[in-house]
Amino acid sequence: MKLIKHMIFVDIHDDKKLLINSLTGTMDEIDAPIYETLSKWQACEEIVTENDLEAELLSNLQSRGYLVNSHEEEVGIKNEILKVLRNQHLQRQKDQRAITFVMTYNCNFRCPYCFEGEAYIKKEIITPEQIDAALKLAGEGVKEICVFGGEPLLPKTRPVLEYLFNKAPDKTYQIFTNGYYLTEFLDLLLTINISQVLITLDGSEETHNSRRVLANGKPTFKKIIDGVEKCLESGINIRIRMNLDKSNYEGGINLREELLERFSGYKDNLSFELTTLIGDSQKERIDILTEIYHSDITYSYEDREKINDFITKKNSLLDHLVYGRKVNPLYSYCYAHVDGMVFDPYGVIYPCLGCVGKEHFSIGKYHPFIELKENSIHNRNIEKISECRDCTYSLLCGGGCPLKLADSDDFFKPVCYSVKTLLHNELPIFYKEREEAMKKVEETVNNAV
Ligand code: SF4
Ligand code: SF4
Repeated sequence: MKLIKHMIFVDIHDDKKLLINSLTGTMDEIDAPIYETLSKWQACEEIVTENDLEAELLSNLQSRGYLVNSHEEEVGIKNEILKVLRNQHLQRQKDQRAITFVMTYNCNFRCPYCFEGEAYIKKEIITPEQIDAALKLAGEGVKEICVFGGEPLLPKTRPVLEYLFNKAPDKTYQIFTNGYYLTEFLDLLLTINISQVLITLDGSEETHNSRRVLANGKPTFKKIIDGVEKCLESGINIRIRMNLDKSNYEGGINLREELLERFSGYKDNLSFELTTLIGDSQKERIDILTEIYHSDITYSYEDREKINDFITKKNSLLDHLVYGRKVNPLYSYCYAHVDGMVFDPYGVIYPCLGCVGKEHFSIGKYHPFIELKENSIHNRNIEKISECRDCTYSLLCGGGCPLKLADSDDFFKPVCYSVKTLLHNELPIFYKEREEAMKKVEETVNNAV
């Protein structure tokens, strides 16, 4: 027997590491002597134990799937996993269950950090013909439609929204809005089936009003909160997203507490996503995520999903650690690679919300004619990227976020940064925080006895 190559060691403390089986996603805590033994065994073609402790370790490793008879056996196991994932991936692409419409790039806000840059100057609104063309291309399998912008809920987008809702009345809608015109749109929203309305608030009223301002500089907080209240009273699910950085993360965490209290009667309809800004440095992001997690961990696993379902969104291992969910192996990095289809008012299709308006990342055109690209994020997966095929991280990674390939004409390249940062820098922080929290619970229980 020999050790599999798909083993990843993550440093937690000086004397503690996490051993990850990257074929199965299993995680085990190991101490320094076990690490030494494993390091010795990594070079062995046939492991020979030298004492009872080693024999016990070998038996544990076998039960956790860390042993194979040969390298070929390990390749065979991975190929089997890939086969299942490939089929699921193709099926999901065929089903095309969800699509998104960018109703317009135009927006009534001027948030300084907007990742769409100055796209708001583009005034076009998606047309009924484009909606028809997109729905036809996406096919009968579509169950969910996401409405996005710019800002999708503007007085001038209302006629075409009415057209969309009439045309596809049986779908479930997710609305991304800055929330300014929620009250004015409530009657229309009540005519459709909504999974959630996502609204951004950037911390306390004062901070929010200094960042999420109208084009004329006027504040927006009060009007948005009024709209949120009306939606909650009408039974619409609201998810509040907060973009946090050094200057507003404390305010954001406090605002979440205030809103949970103020809207305690609508607990089941209210959820949150507290996240960092893409442009911030990695250190800053990790510091803020740690603070957010510090606050999140005071809630139960179940409640944690409601009060912040964003922190771990991009990695199954972290997700498992924070929310106790199942670890799922990846065939590609995210939905953008599978069935992401975002239709904009210029007839262009993008793979995800993160790259709308950036032609370089478009996957093709849908109007006035259909043209799909070969060199496209949709065709990117760990079997298509040569570096990823044999990489020990591949099933936990999926090839990374291709938006880092802005300067490349080839999307079939690896982006290792995401998974490595996540596993080696972020995961230890969450792990230690969880240890601390569990220690505290234990102390409380012991003191009570
Ligand atoms: S992107 Fe890098 S780390 Fe991820 S699977 Fe590919 S080669 Fe491995
Ligand atoms: S491609 Fe990158 S930005 Fe787009 S959804 Fe995937 S991870 Fe997010």
